[in-house]
Amino acid sequence: MKGTHLPIATLAIFAFATFFVSASDPSPLQDFCVAINSGLPGVFVNGKFCRDPKLVTAKDFFFSGLQIPRPTANPVGSTVTPANVEQIPGLNTLGISLARIDYAPNGGLNPPHTHPRASEVLVVLEGTLYVGFVTSNPDNKLISKVLNQGDVFVFPVGLIHFQFNIGPVNAVALAALSSQNPGVITIANAVFGANPPINPDVLRKAFQVDEKLVQYLQKQFWYNNS
Ligand code: MN
Repeated sequence: MKGTHLPIATLAIFAFATFFVSASDPSPLQDFCVAINSGLPGVFVNGKFCRDPKLVTAKDFFFSGLQIPRPTANPVGSTVTPANVEQIPGLNTLGISLARIDYAPNGGLNPPHTHPRASEVLVVLEGTLYVGFVTSNPDNKLISKVLNQGDVFVFPVGLIHFQFNIGPVNAVALAALSSQNPGVITIANAVFGANPPINPDVLRKAFQVDEKLVQYLQKQFWYNNS
């Protein structure tokens, strides 16, 4: 009996492993592919053109200023400073990037959002953050924790997650992401701030609230913190 189950288990493990390999960005096909915004002279790879390797310099792999605190006086009380392929063209095709996140004292929030193309590892550099993510349907289990300086937390690819400064001082975190272009979908902005707006009947039924509340939410200014 055991023997008949083994090949199925092996297949399942293989399928599982293959899924996770293909869920991240494809491996680079060359040492690097420094992004340029025009196809001349270059080769189109992975959404960007590649600069002629002979013309590449250290500047293409460099970014500075991530030590600088950014203002957080905005409706959500947080500011994301990305360092991805848009800021560092040498990250193109390498499947990694960074972001600094500043949080205002007493309630600075990086609101619920997802990264369609990346998992995230967050390290708290200063302050105290309540962080969490929610698993997919049907469980929608909240996995959350309070983090202090030096603590690290993982947000798996695609899952809705947030960070909330519950301390009385500024908080700062550094996030590492498993894509050069992780993408961000801020849930409230995408749902209530879509342009053009989603038909209110859709949102009324989806959120099980009356039309006035939907209209109220759709009239809000949905701030983008990155
Ligand atoms: Mn994130």
